[in-house]
Amino acid sequence: MSYAKTLSVGLVGMTGHVVEVEADLANGLPAVVLSGLPDTALNEARDRIRAAIVNSGQKWPSRRITVNLLPAALPKSGTGFDLAIAVAVLAGAGELPLAPLDGVILLGEVGLDGTVRPVRGMLPMVAAAARVGIVRVVVPVDNAREAALVPGVRVRATDSLHRLVSYVRGTGSLLDPPDDRPEAPAAGPDLADVAGQALGRRAIEVAAAGGHHVALLGPPGAGKTMLAERMPSLLPELDDEAALEVTALHSIAGVLAPGAPLLRRPPFQAPHHTATVPSLVGGGSGLARPGAISLAHRGVLFLDEAPEYQARALEALRQPLETGRVVLHRSGGGMEYPARVQLVLAANPCPCAKPAGDNYCECTPLARRRYIGRLSGPLLDRIDVQVTLTPLRAAELMSADGVGGEPSAVVAERVAKARAAAAARWSGHDGWRTNADVPGPVLRTPPWRLPPGQTAKLRHRLDSGSLSARGFDRVLRLAWTIADLDGRDRPDTGDVDEAAELRTGDGL
Ligand SMILES: [Zn+2]
Repeated sequence: MSYAKTLSVGLVGMTGHVVEVEADLANGLPAVVLSGLPDTALNEARDRIRAAIVNSGQKWPSRRITVNLLPAALPKSGTGFDLAIAVAVLAGAGELPLAPLDGVILLGEVGLDGTVRPVRGMLPMVAAAARVGIVRVVVPVDNAREAALVPGVRVRATDSLHRLVSYVRGTGSLLDPPDDRPEAPAAGPDLADVAGQALGRRAIEVAAAGGHHVALLGPPGAGKTMLAERMPSLLPELDDEAALEVTALHSIAGVLAPGAPLLRRPPFQAPHHTATVPSLVGGGSGLARPGAISLAHRGVLFLDEAPEYQARALEALRQPLETGRVVLHRSGGGMEYPARVQLVLAANPCPCAKPAGDNYCECTPLARRRYIGRLSGPLLDRIDVQVTLTPLRAAELMSADGVGGEPSAVVAERVAKARAAAAARWSGHDGWRTNADVPGPVLRTPPWRLPPGQTAKLRHRLDSGSLSARGFDRVLRLAWTIADLDGRDRPDTGDVDEAAELRTGDGL
Protein backbone atom coordinates (compact mmCIF):
# COMPACT_ATOMS: atom_id res chain seq x y z
CA MET A 1 0.00 0.00 0.00
CA SER A 2 1.36 3.43 -0.80
CA TYR A 3 -1.46 5.53 0.63
CA ALA A 4 -2.64 6.03 4.20
CA LYS A 5 -4.90 8.37 6.09
CA THR A 6 -4.97 9.43 9.76
CA LEU A 7 -7.09 11.89 11.75
CA SER A 8 -6.11 14.97 13.72
CA VAL A 9 -7.68 18.29 14.76
CA GLY A 10 -6.84 21.87 13.77
CA LEU A 11 -7.86 24.99 15.66
CA VAL A 12 -9.07 28.27 14.25
CA GLY A 13 -9.43 30.49 17.29
CA MET A 14 -11.48 28.51 19.78
CA THR A 15 -13.04 26.30 17.14
CA GLY A 16 -11.57 22.89 16.38
CA HIS A 17 -12.02 21.07 13.06
CA VAL A 18 -11.24 17.44 12.37
CA VAL A 19 -8.44 17.27 9.82
CA GLU A 20 -7.67 14.27 7.61
CA VAL A 21 -3.97 13.70 7.09
CA GLU A 22 -3.21 11.83 3.87
CA ALA A 23 0.17 10.46 2.88
CA ASP A 24 0.88 9.20 -0.61
CA LEU A 25 4.18 7.56 -1.50
CA ALA A 26 5.16 7.42 -5.15
CA ASN A 27 8.22 6.36 -7.06
CA GLY A 28 10.48 9.19 -8.04
CA LEU A 29 13.16 11.36 -6.51
CA PRO A 30 12.95 11.21 -2.70
CA ALA A 31 11.19 14.36 -1.51
CA VAL A 32 8.45 15.52 0.83
CA VAL A 33 5.65 17.78 -0.32
CA LEU A 34 3.19 19.22 2.17
CA SER A 35 -0.05 20.65 0.90
CA GLY A 36 -3.22 22.03 2.42
CA LEU A 37 -2.29 25.56 3.48
CA PRO A 38 0.48 24.73 5.91
CA ASP A 39 2.09 27.60 7.77
CA THR A 40 5.79 27.86 8.57
CA ALA A 41 5.64 25.60 11.61
CA LEU A 42 4.06 22.90 9.51
CA ASN A 43 6.80 23.18 6.91
CA GLU A 44 9.34 22.69 9.64
CA ALA A 45 7.42 19.52 10.52
CA ARG A 46 8.97 17.87 7.48
CA ASP A 47 12.49 17.73 8.96
CA ARG A 48 11.29 17.14 12.49
CA ILE A 49 9.18 14.14 11.50
CA ARG A 50 11.89 12.60 9.38
CA ALA A 51 14.36 12.79 12.30
CA ALA A 52 11.75 11.48 14.74
CA ILE A 53 10.97 8.47 12.56
CA VAL A 54 14.64 7.61 12.05
CA ASN A 55 15.48 8.12 15.72
CA SER A 56 12.57 5.89 16.71
CA GLY A 57 14.33 3.04 14.91
CA GLN A 58 12.06 3.17 11.85
CA LYS A 59 13.05 3.44 8.22
CA TRP A 60 12.37 6.71 6.40
CA PRO A 61 10.91 5.74 3.03
CA SER A 62 13.14 7.07 0.26
CA ARG A 63 10.34 7.81 -2.15
CA ARG A 64 8.43 10.85 -3.22
CA ILE A 65 6.08 11.57 -0.29
CA THR A 66 3.06 13.83 -0.58
CA VAL A 67 1.32 14.80 2.64
CA ASN A 68 -2.02 16.52 2.28
CA LEU A 69 -4.14 18.04 5.05
CA LEU A 70 -7.89 18.22 4.46
CA PRO A 71 -10.06 20.25 4.29
CA ALA A 72 -7.54 22.24 2.26
CA ALA A 73 -9.31 25.56 2.77
CA LEU A 74 -8.97 25.42 6.55
CA PRO A 75 -6.03 27.48 7.83
CA LYS A 76 -3.72 25.18 9.77
CA SER A 77 -1.03 26.05 12.22
CA GLY A 78 1.03 24.65 15.02
CA THR A 79 2.81 21.40 15.64
CA GLY A 80 -0.14 19.28 16.74
CA PHE A 81 -0.35 17.43 13.39
CA ASP A 82 3.15 15.90 13.73
CA LEU A 83 2.02 12.63 15.21
CA ALA A 84 -0.72 12.11 12.62
CA ILE A 85 1.70 12.92 9.78
CA ALA A 86 4.41 10.58 11.08
CA VAL A 87 1.98 7.68 11.42
CA ALA A 88 0.45 8.35 7.98
CA VAL A 89 3.90 8.31 6.37
CA LEU A 90 4.88 5.04 8.07
CA ALA A 91 1.55 3.45 7.21
CA GLY A 92 1.77 4.68 3.62
CA ALA A 93 5.16 2.99 3.36
CA GLY A 94 3.52 -0.25 4.42
CA GLU A 95 5.35 -0.28 7.76
CA LEU A 96 2.25 -0.05 9.97
CA PRO A 97 -1.21 -1.59 9.95
CA LEU A 98 -3.65 1.25 10.55
CA ALA A 99 -6.63 -0.78 11.77
CA PRO A 100 -5.92 -0.13 15.48
CA LEU A 101 -6.10 3.63 14.79
CA ASP A 102 -9.33 3.53 12.83
CA GLY A 103 -11.48 6.46 14.04
CA VAL A 104 -8.77 7.63 16.44
CA ILE A 105 -7.61 11.25 16.61
CA LEU A 106 -3.82 11.68 16.86
CA LEU A 107 -2.49 14.86 18.45
CA GLY A 108 1.01 15.85 19.43
CA GLU A 109 4.31 17.38 18.43
CA VAL A 110 7.28 15.08 17.83
CA GLY A 111 10.80 15.98 18.86
CA LEU A 112 13.87 15.12 16.78
CA ASP A 113 14.57 12.22 19.13
CA GLY A 114 11.09 10.78 18.68
CA THR A 115 9.60 11.98 21.97
CA VAL A 116 6.03 13.24 21.82
CA ARG A 117 5.54 16.71 23.28
CA PRO A 118 2.49 18.60 24.53
CA VAL A 119 0.73 21.17 22.35
CA ARG A 120 -1.34 24.27 23.12
CA GLY A 121 -5.11 24.05 22.82
CA MET A 122 -5.51 20.34 23.66
CA LEU A 123 -8.82 20.87 25.47
CA PRO A 124 -10.69 22.64 22.62
CA MET A 125 -9.22 20.21 20.07
CA VAL A 126 -10.44 17.12 21.92
CA ALA A 127 -13.79 18.82 22.60
CA ALA A 128 -14.18 19.45 18.85
CA ALA A 129 -13.54 15.78 18.09
CA ALA A 130 -16.10 14.75 20.70
CA ARG A 131 -18.68 17.10 19.19
CA VAL A 132 -18.54 15.23 15.88
CA GLY A 133 -18.70 11.88 17.62
CA ILE A 134 -15.02 10.89 17.60
CA VAL A 135 -14.35 9.79 21.16
CA ARG A 136 -10.98 8.02 20.94
CA VAL A 137 -7.84 10.09 21.05
CA VAL A 138 -4.11 9.52 21.45
CA VAL A 139 -2.35 12.53 22.96
CA PRO A 140 1.03 13.46 24.47
CA VAL A 141 1.32 12.15 28.02
CA ASP A 142 1.75 15.68 29.36
CA ASN A 143 -1.58 16.68 27.80
CA ALA A 144 -3.47 13.54 28.86
CA ARG A 145 -5.16 14.92 31.93
CA GLU A 146 -6.24 18.02 30.04
CA ALA A 147 -7.70 15.90 27.22
CA ALA A 148 -9.55 13.81 29.80
CA LEU A 149 -11.42 16.91 31.01
CA VAL A 150 -13.72 16.47 28.02
CA PRO A 151 -16.58 14.24 29.14
CA GLY A 152 -17.13 10.95 27.33
CA VAL A 153 -13.76 10.80 25.59
CA ARG A 154 -11.45 7.78 25.83
CA VAL A 155 -7.96 9.21 26.21
CA ARG A 156 -4.78 7.19 25.66
CA ALA A 157 -1.38 8.79 25.91
CA THR A 158 2.09 8.30 24.55
CA ASP A 159 5.48 9.70 25.45
CA SER A 160 7.17 8.70 22.20
CA LEU A 161 6.55 7.84 18.59
CA HIS A 162 8.19 4.50 19.32
CA ARG A 163 5.50 3.68 21.91
CA LEU A 164 2.70 4.48 19.48
CA VAL A 165 4.33 2.40 16.71
CA SER A 166 4.73 -0.55 19.11
CA TYR A 167 1.09 -0.26 20.12
CA VAL A 168 -0.10 -0.28 16.52
CA ARG A 169 2.03 -3.35 15.80
CA GLY A 170 0.62 -5.06 18.87
CA THR A 171 3.97 -5.30 20.65
CA GLY A 172 3.48 -2.52 23.20
CA SER A 173 0.83 -0.52 24.95
CA LEU A 174 -0.20 3.07 25.35
CA LEU A 175 -0.38 4.94 28.65
CA ASP A 176 -3.45 5.95 30.62
CA PRO A 177 -3.95 9.52 31.83
CA PRO A 178 -2.73 9.88 35.42
CA ASP A 179 -5.73 9.29 37.64
CA ASP A 180 -4.47 11.13 40.71
CA ARG A 181 -6.78 13.98 41.49
CA PRO A 182 -5.13 17.32 40.94
CA GLU A 183 -5.28 19.58 43.94
CA ALA A 184 -7.85 22.32 43.75
CA PRO A 185 -6.06 25.61 43.29
CA ALA A 186 -5.65 27.71 46.42
CA ALA A 187 -8.41 30.25 46.94
CA GLY A 188 -7.51 33.79 45.96
CA PRO A 189 -7.12 36.61 48.47
CA ASP A 190 -10.11 37.22 50.75
CA LEU A 191 -11.99 40.41 51.45
CA ALA A 192 -11.59 39.72 55.16
CA ASP A 193 -8.00 41.03 54.81
CA VAL A 194 -9.19 44.52 53.91
CA ALA A 195 -9.48 46.77 56.96
CA GLY A 196 -12.01 49.58 56.83
CA GLN A 197 -12.60 50.99 53.33
CA ALA A 198 -16.39 50.83 53.55
CA LEU A 199 -16.87 52.74 50.29
CA GLY A 200 -14.33 50.65 48.36
CA ARG A 201 -15.76 47.37 49.67
CA ARG A 202 -19.29 48.44 48.80
CA ALA A 203 -18.14 49.55 45.34
CA ILE A 204 -16.74 46.14 44.40
CA GLU A 205 -19.71 44.33 45.97
CA VAL A 206 -22.17 46.36 43.90
CA ALA A 207 -19.97 45.95 40.81
CA ALA A 208 -19.83 42.17 41.28
CA ALA A 209 -23.59 41.96 41.83
CA GLY A 210 -24.58 44.02 38.79
CA GLY A 211 -21.77 43.08 36.40
CA HIS A 212 -20.61 46.71 36.39
CA HIS A 213 -17.11 47.89 35.45
CA VAL A 214 -15.38 49.82 38.26
CA ALA A 215 -12.93 52.69 38.43
CA LEU A 216 -11.12 53.05 41.76
CA LEU A 217 -9.51 56.44 42.07
CA GLY A 218 -7.30 57.67 44.87
CA PRO A 219 -3.75 58.12 46.10
CA PRO A 220 -1.35 55.27 46.82
CA GLY A 221 -2.22 53.51 50.07
CA ALA A 222 -5.97 53.76 49.51
CA GLY A 223 -6.18 49.98 48.99
CA LYS A 224 -7.17 50.05 45.32
CA THR A 225 -5.09 47.01 44.35
CA MET A 226 -6.14 45.00 47.41
CA LEU A 227 -9.80 45.57 46.55
CA ALA A 228 -9.36 44.74 42.86
CA GLU A 229 -7.57 41.47 43.60
CA ARG A 230 -10.48 40.38 45.78
CA MET A 231 -13.18 41.03 43.20
CA PRO A 232 -13.04 37.48 41.70
CA SER A 233 -13.73 36.04 45.15
CA LEU A 234 -17.14 37.77 45.08
CA LEU A 235 -18.18 36.37 41.70
CA PRO A 236 -20.10 33.09 41.29
CA GLU A 237 -18.24 29.92 40.25
CA LEU A 238 -18.19 29.21 36.54
CA ASP A 239 -20.80 26.75 35.26
CA ASP A 240 -19.71 23.75 33.14
CA GLU A 241 -19.90 25.56 29.84
CA ALA A 242 -18.05 28.65 31.08
CA ALA A 243 -15.43 26.53 32.84
CA LEU A 244 -14.67 24.63 29.62
CA GLU A 245 -14.50 27.87 27.67
CA VAL A 246 -12.19 29.60 30.15
CA THR A 247 -9.94 26.55 30.50
CA ALA A 248 -9.76 26.24 26.71
CA LEU A 249 -8.61 29.85 26.38
CA HIS A 250 -5.85 29.29 28.92
CA SER A 251 -4.89 26.10 27.11
CA ILE A 252 -4.57 27.89 23.77
CA ALA A 253 -2.46 30.59 25.41
CA GLY A 254 -0.19 27.87 26.78
CA VAL A 255 -0.60 29.08 30.36
CA LEU A 256 -2.57 26.14 31.71
CA ALA A 257 -0.44 24.23 34.23
CA PRO A 258 0.03 20.56 33.25
CA GLY A 259 -2.58 18.50 35.05
CA ALA A 260 -4.59 21.55 36.03
CA PRO A 261 -8.24 20.82 36.71
CA LEU A 262 -11.04 22.64 34.89
CA LEU A 263 -10.88 26.31 35.92
CA ARG A 264 -13.93 26.90 38.09
CA ARG A 265 -13.06 30.27 39.59
CA PRO A 266 -13.48 33.49 37.60
CA PRO A 267 -9.98 34.37 36.34
CA PHE A 268 -8.06 37.51 37.33
CA GLN A 269 -5.64 39.18 34.95
CA ALA A 270 -3.54 42.21 35.80
CA PRO A 271 -1.38 43.12 32.78
CA HIS A 272 1.36 45.67 33.55
CA HIS A 273 0.92 49.17 32.17
CA THR A 274 3.81 48.57 29.77
CA ALA A 275 1.81 45.71 28.17
CA THR A 276 1.81 45.68 24.37
CA VAL A 277 -1.37 45.62 22.31
CA PRO A 278 -0.93 41.92 21.30
CA SER A 279 -0.38 40.91 24.93
CA LEU A 280 -3.61 42.69 25.88
CA VAL A 281 -5.92 41.61 23.07
CA GLY A 282 -4.08 38.65 21.53
CA GLY A 283 -1.91 37.92 18.53
CA GLY A 284 1.32 36.23 17.48
CA SER A 285 2.15 33.97 14.57
CA GLY A 286 0.57 30.59 13.89
CA LEU A 287 -2.28 29.83 16.28
CA ALA A 288 -2.80 33.29 17.79
CA ARG A 289 -2.44 33.48 21.55
CA PRO A 290 -5.37 34.99 23.44
CA GLY A 291 -4.44 38.25 25.19
CA ALA A 292 -5.02 39.29 28.79
CA ILE A 293 -8.59 40.39 28.07
CA SER A 294 -9.48 36.88 26.82
CA LEU A 295 -7.60 35.19 29.65
CA ALA A 296 -9.81 37.29 31.93
CA HIS A 297 -12.95 36.11 30.09
CA ARG A 298 -15.78 35.54 32.63
CA GLY A 299 -13.56 37.10 35.28
CA VAL A 300 -11.78 40.34 36.10
CA LEU A 301 -9.37 42.42 34.03
CA PHE A 302 -7.48 44.81 36.32
CA LEU A 303 -5.67 47.82 34.89
CA ASP A 304 -3.58 49.32 37.68
CA GLU A 305 -2.30 52.86 37.13
CA ALA A 306 -4.56 52.95 34.11
CA PRO A 307 -3.49 56.39 32.78
CA GLU A 308 0.05 55.00 32.39
CA TYR A 309 -1.03 52.53 29.66
CA GLN A 310 -0.21 53.48 26.09
CA ALA A 311 -3.08 55.26 24.40
CA ARG A 312 -3.01 52.56 21.71
CA ALA A 313 -3.41 49.87 24.32
CA LEU A 314 -6.44 51.53 25.93
CA GLU A 315 -7.93 52.13 22.50
CA ALA A 316 -7.47 48.44 21.60
CA LEU A 317 -9.55 47.43 24.61
CA ARG A 318 -12.51 49.58 23.65
CA GLN A 319 -14.05 47.31 21.03
CA PRO A 320 -13.73 44.07 23.04
CA LEU A 321 -15.27 45.77 26.08
CA GLU A 322 -18.24 46.74 23.94
CA THR A 323 -18.79 43.44 22.16
CA GLY A 324 -17.40 40.88 24.61
CA ARG A 325 -15.09 39.41 21.99
CA VAL A 326 -11.77 40.09 20.30
CA VAL A 327 -11.51 39.84 16.54
CA LEU A 328 -7.98 39.22 15.26
CA HIS A 329 -7.18 39.68 11.60
CA ARG A 330 -4.95 36.92 10.28
CA SER A 331 -3.43 36.19 6.90
CA GLY A 332 -5.73 33.16 6.63
CA GLY A 333 -8.81 35.23 7.54
CA GLY A 334 -10.25 36.67 10.76
CA MET A 335 -10.69 34.74 13.96
CA GLU A 336 -12.03 35.62 17.36
CA TYR A 337 -11.72 34.88 21.05
CA PRO A 338 -14.36 35.60 23.68
CA ALA A 339 -13.54 38.50 26.04
CA ARG A 340 -16.44 39.17 28.36
CA VAL A 341 -14.78 40.71 31.40
CA GLN A 342 -15.47 42.91 34.34
CA LEU A 343 -13.02 45.75 34.12
CA VAL A 344 -11.47 47.15 37.29
CA LEU A 345 -9.43 50.21 36.65
CA ALA A 346 -7.29 51.98 39.25
CA ALA A 347 -5.77 55.41 38.92
CA ASN A 348 -3.94 57.98 40.98
CA PRO A 349 -5.54 61.38 40.70
CA CYS A 350 -2.33 62.94 39.40
CA PRO A 351 0.91 61.97 37.64
CA CYS A 352 3.19 62.42 40.68
CA ALA A 353 1.08 60.06 42.83
CA LYS A 354 1.91 61.93 46.04
CA PRO A 355 -0.76 62.64 48.64
CA ALA A 356 -2.74 65.80 48.12
CA GLY A 357 -2.30 68.91 50.26
CA ASP A 358 0.48 69.67 52.72
CA ASN A 359 2.71 70.72 49.83
CA TYR A 360 3.26 67.11 48.82
CA CYS A 361 1.72 67.21 45.38
CA GLU A 362 2.64 70.15 43.22
CA CYS A 363 0.75 69.07 40.11
CA THR A 364 -1.28 71.87 38.58
CA PRO A 365 -5.02 71.38 38.23
CA LEU A 366 -4.44 71.25 34.47
CA ALA A 367 -1.86 68.47 34.85
CA ARG A 368 -4.24 66.50 37.03
CA ARG A 369 -7.12 66.92 34.58
CA ARG A 370 -4.90 65.90 31.67
CA TYR A 371 -3.69 62.83 33.53
CA ILE A 372 -7.13 61.41 34.26
CA GLY A 373 -8.27 62.72 30.89
CA ARG A 374 -6.22 59.96 29.26
CA LEU A 375 -8.94 57.57 30.36
CA SER A 376 -11.77 59.74 29.22
CA GLY A 377 -14.07 59.05 26.37
CA PRO A 378 -14.99 55.56 25.36
CA LEU A 379 -13.31 53.76 28.24
CA LEU A 380 -14.68 55.71 31.20
CA ASP A 381 -18.00 55.95 29.39
CA ARG A 382 -18.56 52.28 29.99
CA ILE A 383 -17.73 52.30 33.68
CA ASP A 384 -20.78 52.45 35.95
CA VAL A 385 -19.06 52.53 39.35
CA GLN A 386 -16.53 55.33 39.81
CA VAL A 387 -15.42 56.01 43.36
CA THR A 388 -12.68 58.11 44.88
CA LEU A 389 -11.04 56.38 47.82
CA THR A 390 -9.13 58.10 50.58
CA PRO A 391 -6.16 56.59 52.41
CA LEU A 392 -7.13 54.63 55.47
CA ARG A 393 -7.39 56.82 58.55
CA ALA A 394 -5.70 55.63 61.70
CA ALA A 395 -9.04 55.40 63.50
CA GLU A 396 -10.42 53.12 60.77
CA LEU A 397 -7.37 50.91 60.97
CA MET A 398 -7.52 50.67 64.75
CA SER A 399 -11.22 49.89 64.92
CA ALA A 400 -10.81 47.16 62.32
CA ASP A 401 -7.65 45.80 63.90
CA GLY A 402 -7.99 42.17 64.84
CA VAL A 403 -11.63 42.07 63.81
CA GLY A 404 -11.09 42.03 60.06
CA GLY A 405 -13.66 42.82 57.43
CA GLU A 406 -16.57 40.69 56.30
CA PRO A 407 -15.15 37.60 54.50
CA SER A 408 -15.61 37.11 50.76
CA ALA A 409 -17.87 34.08 51.19
CA VAL A 410 -20.52 36.16 53.01
CA VAL A 411 -20.44 38.92 50.41
CA ALA A 412 -20.42 36.40 47.55
CA GLU A 413 -23.67 34.93 48.87
CA ARG A 414 -25.39 38.33 48.67
CA VAL A 415 -23.89 38.84 45.20
CA ALA A 416 -25.26 35.49 44.00
CA LYS A 417 -28.76 36.32 45.24
CA ALA A 418 -28.66 39.75 43.61
CA ARG A 419 -27.48 38.26 40.33
CA ALA A 420 -30.30 35.71 40.42
CA ALA A 421 -32.87 38.47 41.00
CA ALA A 422 -31.54 40.53 38.08
CA ALA A 423 -31.35 37.49 35.80
CA ALA A 424 -34.99 36.66 36.60
CA ARG A 425 -36.11 40.25 35.95
CA TRP A 426 -34.39 40.48 32.56
CA SER A 427 -34.96 36.86 31.54
CA GLY A 428 -37.23 37.89 28.66
CA HIS A 429 -34.41 39.87 27.03
CA ASP A 430 -31.77 38.06 25.08
CA GLY A 431 -28.28 38.99 26.20
CA TRP A 432 -29.25 40.85 29.38
CA ARG A 433 -27.95 38.86 32.30
CA THR A 434 -26.90 41.59 34.68
CA ASN A 435 -28.06 45.15 35.29
CA ALA A 436 -24.94 46.43 33.51
CA ASP A 437 -26.29 44.91 30.28
CA VAL A 438 -29.48 46.98 30.39
CA PRO A 439 -29.51 50.07 28.13
CA GLY A 440 -30.12 53.35 29.96
CA PRO A 441 -33.35 54.37 28.17
CA VAL A 442 -35.04 51.16 29.35
CA LEU A 443 -34.70 52.26 32.97
CA ARG A 444 -36.12 55.70 32.18
CA THR A 445 -39.33 54.34 30.65
CA PRO A 446 -42.24 52.35 32.12
CA PRO A 447 -42.51 49.84 33.61
CA TRP A 448 -39.00 50.39 34.99
CA ARG A 449 -39.13 54.17 35.47
CA LEU A 450 -38.85 55.17 39.12
CA PRO A 451 -41.41 57.56 40.69
CA PRO A 452 -40.44 61.24 40.24
CA GLY A 453 -39.96 61.75 43.98
CA GLN A 454 -37.15 59.22 44.04
CA THR A 455 -35.18 60.79 41.23
CA ALA A 456 -35.80 64.48 42.12
CA LYS A 457 -32.25 65.05 43.39
CA LEU A 458 -30.77 63.37 40.33
CA ARG A 459 -32.88 65.40 37.93
CA HIS A 460 -31.82 68.54 39.75
CA ARG A 461 -28.16 67.58 39.32
CA LEU A 462 -28.81 66.79 35.66
CA ASP A 463 -30.42 70.23 35.12
CA SER A 464 -27.61 72.02 36.92
CA GLY A 465 -25.04 70.23 34.81
CA SER A 466 -23.31 68.42 37.68
CA LEU A 467 -24.46 65.06 36.31
CA SER A 468 -24.31 63.95 32.69
CA ALA A 469 -27.14 62.11 30.95
CA ARG A 470 -24.95 59.02 30.86
CA GLY A 471 -24.16 59.49 34.54
CA PHE A 472 -27.90 59.65 35.23
CA ASP A 473 -28.45 56.28 33.53
CA ARG A 474 -25.54 54.79 35.44
CA VAL A 475 -27.00 55.87 38.77
CA LEU A 476 -30.30 54.20 37.80
CA ARG A 477 -28.52 50.97 36.87
CA LEU A 478 -26.62 50.98 40.15
CA ALA A 479 -29.82 51.70 42.12
CA TRP A 480 -31.36 48.52 40.71
CA THR A 481 -28.29 46.53 41.68
CA ILE A 482 -28.37 47.93 45.21
CA ALA A 483 -32.07 47.01 45.49
CA ASP A 484 -31.21 43.48 44.27
CA LEU A 485 -28.46 43.21 46.88
CA ASP A 486 -30.78 44.31 49.66
CA GLY A 487 -33.64 42.08 48.49
CA ARG A 488 -36.07 44.81 47.37
CA ASP A 489 -38.25 44.42 44.26
CA ARG A 490 -37.63 48.00 43.20
CA PRO A 491 -35.11 50.66 44.26
CA ASP A 492 -36.22 53.10 46.98
CA THR A 493 -34.96 56.64 47.54
CA GLY A 494 -32.13 55.37 49.75
CA ASP A 495 -30.94 53.07 46.95
CA VAL A 496 -30.87 55.95 44.49
CA ASP A 497 -28.91 58.09 46.97
CA GLU A 498 -26.38 55.34 47.57
CA ALA A 499 -26.09 54.75 43.82
CA ALA A 500 -25.24 58.43 43.38
CA GLU A 501 -22.52 58.03 46.02
CA LEU A 502 -20.94 55.28 43.96
CA ARG A 503 -20.41 57.94 41.33
CA THR A 504 -18.17 60.19 43.42
CA GLY A 505 -15.63 59.97 40.64
CA ASP A 506 -18.14 61.62 38.32
CA GLY A 507 -17.07 64.71 36.46
CA LEU A 508 -13.69 63.27 35.55
ZN1 LIG B 1 0.65 65.34 41.90
